[in-house]
Amino acid sequence: MIDLHTHSTVSDGTETPTELVATAAAAGVTVLALTDHDTTAGWAEAATARPSGMTLVRGAEFSTVSPDGRGGEVTAHLLGYLFDPEDATVVAEQERVRNSRRDRLRAMGERMAAGGLPIDGEALLARLPADSPAGRPHIGQALVEAGVVGSVSEAFRELLRKGGPYYVEKYNTPIAEAVAMIRAAGGVAVFAHPFARRRGDVVEASVLRDLAREGLDGVEVDHPDHADDDRATLREVAAETGLLVTGSSDYHGTNKTTPIAVETTAPAVFEALVVRASARATGVEVLADGGVAAT
Ligand code: AMP
Ligand code: FE
Ligand code: FE
Ligand code: ZN
Repeated sequence: MIDLHTHSTVSDGTETPTELVATAAAAGVTVLALTDHDTTAGWAEAATARPSGMTLVRGAEFSTVSPDGRGGEVTAHLLGYLFDPEDATVVAEQERVRNSRRDRLRAMGERMAAGGLPIDGEALLARLPADSPAGRPHIGQALVEAGVVGSVSEAFRELLRKGGPYYVEKYNTPIAEAVAMIRAAGGVAVFAHPFARRRGDVVEASVLRDLAREGLDGVEVDHPDHADDDRATLREVAAETGLLVTGSSDYHGTNKTTPIAVETTAPAVFEALVVRASARATGVEVLADGGVAAT
């Protein structure tokens, strides 16, 4: 069972990398990708916790901004796998996004406090590591703790959603640049949940066709936020363009209701991703467990 998209406490999941690996093993996951938002800080702990029968895929979910295919732009998530975590461009860009994430949490906190909500952005940030990719789920948890809402999902629906009264945007990498950056660092790039419509506006299918020409490797088709008809459309686009089709849970522990491995990726697709990364690696070696090491 292959799950290529999960989050730990290093970003906005609720399980430490060690706990996440144990949850995955207990669920029968044999290939697990750790894809925290805009950071690789959880990789070492996950590697230490990895049971011998499990392949650990080092990855990250990059915050990007994409053309929407209608003349505007939308935020989009891009999964990068098997890239060199020490690549200077990746390191600098992830740091830039994380800094912006913390500034944005502070700004949303100020708006919420001004609106009478019991949120102190500074106090919230003080509880997180200095280089944390702080996100809206952290505010959501604080709202649950304060008794304002019953769950993080409710916090999103009522207070944290894009376009809501407290929403503040952060810096995001232009997606074509992010694809090129991941590839240049020896990795492969997969467009995460492109049709997750309940989060806000999404891209048109034409954008995926354009990105496929610009080097995108794959598209996450089977995702808990994707409707059946949208999955069918994405499969057609993938068949036309040669994009690899992945499926993943986007597990976030108790910050979401989705169980781990509720969606999975076919073994042949995972093998194709590893083959591509091996061909691209410059100065990095793809290990038998799917990780990378500097050579
Ligand atoms: P941010 O990265 O700060 O923009 O927040 C987006 C993150 O919030 C996503 O990566 C999800 O983990 C989470 N999220 C988005 N929508 C929801 C929702 N409706 N319920 C729970 N978590 C959500
Ligand atoms: Fe998340
Ligand atoms: Fe995402
Ligand atoms: Zn995710």
